Amino acid sequence: MSNTMTELRAAYGEIADLRAAMGLLEWDQQTHMPKEGFATRGRVVATLAQIAHERYLSPRFDELVAAAEAEAPPGDDAITLDLLRWERDRERRIPATLVEENSLAVTASYQAWEEARKTKDFAQFAPHLEKVVALRRRFADHYGYDAHPWDALVPGFERGMTAALIKPVFDKVQPRVTALLKAIQSKGPAHDLSFLDQRWDPDAQWAFGMRVLADLGFDLARGRQDRSTHPFTMGMAPTDVRLTTRLKAESLFSALMATAHEGGHGLYEQGFRPEDARTPLGHAPSSAVHESQARLYEYRVAACLPFWRHYAPVLREHFPGQLDNVSAEQLYAAINEVSASFIRVDADEVTYPLHIILRFELELELIAGTLAVRDLPEAWNAKMRAYLGITPPDPVLGCMQDVHWAEALFGYFPSYSLGTMFGAMFMEKMEADHPSLWTDMEAGDFRPVLGWLRRNVHTVGSRMKPLELVRAATGREFTPEPFLHYLEAKYTELYRLGG
Ligand code: ZN
Repeated sequence: MSNTMTELRAAYGEIADLRAAMGLLEWDQQTHMPKEGFATRGRVVATLAQIAHERYLSPRFDELVAAAEAEAPPGDDAITLDLLRWERDRERRIPATLVEENSLAVTASYQAWEEARKTKDFAQFAPHLEKVVALRRRFADHYGYDAHPWDALVPGFERGMTAALIKPVFDKVQPRVTALLKAIQSKGPAHDLSFLDQRWDPDAQWAFGMRVLADLGFDLARGRQDRSTHPFTMGMAPTDVRLTTRLKAESLFSALMATAHEGGHGLYEQGFRPEDARTPLGHAPSSAVHESQARLYEYRVAACLPFWRHYAPVLREHFPGQLDNVSAEQLYAAINEVSASFIRVDADEVTYPLHIILRFELELELIAGTLAVRDLPEAWNAKMRAYLGITPPDPVLGCMQDVHWAEALFGYFPSYSLGTMFGAMFMEKMEADHPSLWTDMEAGDFRPVLGWLRRNVHTVGSRMKPLELVRAATGREFTPEPFLHYLEAKYTELYRLGG
């Protein structure tokens, strides 16, 4: 490595250190910080953020990047420089005055969103959302785009994605999933699930989740799990990954699902190459690729029948006397119970993509200006009726349920479902590569899953763009077919459809 690259890496490393410190402070804020700590914590984080931002866009850092580019290094150094150039160019396109105007508008809109939720009054929130949408359009103009202004916003989460790439995929998925949902609803559950109506000791839930987390391969010497209201994962380095779960006494599976989901994120963070730490390469290439790991562990691993054949006796031990006559098949049916409901974050595997597709379609229209903010609740409800067959009784159960739009996160929603679809492609290839995958899982051996992901996804870091990584890992172009095939086969059997 040249001296210039060594210097550049050292300078970037310090910026990465500042960001890691901010991550740790945020983790603390959501897990252990005392209630009154908010005011001072906000200042500490703002100071660190400002220093990191100034260094990242400083003339000194510019000179280092330019000098390194002049040397035109090969391999990983070339990829590093491309990532830095792309990300810094994007940030530079937004004038500082617009950044400030935006941050004030977002703070106000978040507060208005919280207030309006208390009275379930969309009209209170609407003027703020209008401002946020107008600002997003101005950001799009500065970033630049060809076909649709939304295309300028999505690369912040998915580099290389556009509305034109996503729309045909979702157009194919929506009618097939809606048809599957209708078939499930007309048939009803094939198993007795009344055993779920019990109290499930949170301590026992915690112990079971920790056991599963360790079995999946999460290294507790390089990470830990805590509790928080909203589960999340924060990776400071492959050697220090924090995840959280929630415990609800009325729900047998909610903690486990959160642990498996965040565990998937956490295994990814632990799987980056050690030498990529403190460099732009030691990250996921996109939100969807990160999400693919989480949803793969949540559904493809922790909600499959072989998993429950292995863990049914373990779960019975954790809840003595509560599950004596409950079979692995019943647990499997229970964790995969499907019902159309209003809230995205509580949605099951079948209805989840419908919640995402609805949001994607409405976002495109809001950003294009073909849907006025004041008409959003009606448009939302019409799509809920068409895709899920239900109508939200109020906007808190409708278009005001997510914080994303209040916080100007337009372009993010598709990542959740694209991730699920990437995950289905990974599983299809993993099965082909490891014919004994499911019998291994039934024996409690999850090493083939983690090994495959380590080789094909984790250690790649951000050396490839999302769709390149999918192609390299699976040998196929991105397609929703493996996801649709899996979903239809699984639920046709589970609900004994068509028979
Ligand atoms: Zn996630």
